[in-house]
Amino acid sequence: MSFENLNLNPSLLKALTACGYSEPTPIQAQAIPQVLTGQDLLASAQTGTGKTAAFVLPALHRILANPAKPGRGPRVLVLTPTRELATQVTDAVRTYGRFMRIRSGAILGGMPYREQLQLLSSPVDLIVATPGRLIDHLERGRLSLNRLEMLILDEADRMLDMGFIEPVESIAAATPADRQTLLFSATLDARIAKLAGNLLTEPATIRI
Ligand code: AMP
Repeated sequence: MSFENLNLNPSLLKALTACGYSEPTPIQAQAIPQVLTGQDLLASAQTGTGKTAAFVLPALHRILANPAKPGRGPRVLVLTPTRELATQVTDAVRTYGRFMRIRSGAILGGMPYREQLQLLSSPVDLIVATPGRLIDHLERGRLSLNRLEMLILDEADRMLDMGFIEPVESIAAATPADRQTLLFSATLDARIAKLAGNLLTEPATIRI
C-alpha cells in the first residue's frame, strides 16, 4: 500500500514525500479511504500510530475538492482536549498543507484574544480548538459554524475525562446536521459509545 493508492490530492502527496513518509500507517490506510467516502467514522487509535494524519489528510483533501460555501466560519473543526494536542494538530495541518492555499489556525483557552479575533475576522478553512474557548467565541457571536463540513473529535475519551461533554455537544448542536463527523479515541468504552450515538450517523468503526 502506498499513499498514491489513496487518491489524495497531489499537493498532499507532495507534502508527504517532503516528510519522507514512504507508506501509510495501518490507521491511515484504513481511515483515509473511509473518510473520503464521506461516511462518519469512529476510530480507536493511540498516540504514535499516525492518527493525526489519518484525519488531517482527508480533511485537507476535502477542502481542496469541494467549493467553499459563502461565509466566514470554518469548513473543518478539530476539537482537542488540551492546548498541547491542539498545537500538535495545528503543526500537522501546516506540514501537510504546505503546498496548498489554506487559512487555518488555533482557538485555545488561556491564549490572548487578539490573534484569535483576527483569525475569525475573514474566511477560515480549518480551526483546531479546545472546547471552552470555542464556546466562548460562539456565545459572543464571533464565530459561526453554519458552513461546517467536517467535525473531528481527537482524543474524545480525554475530552470526556476533562468534563468537556457539555461544550462538545453544544458545539456539535451549532453545526449543520449534514456535516461529516469523525471521532478518534484511545478507548471505545460505554461513554464513548454514548457520545458516538449522539454525534455520529451510521459510522464505520476502525480499531487499531
Ligand atoms: P501521531 O500518532 O499522529 O501522533 O503521529 C506519530 C508520529 O508519526 C508523528 O511524528 C508523525 O509525523 C509520524 N507519522 C505519521 N504518519 C507517518 C507515516 N505514514 N510514515 C512515517 N511517519 C509517520
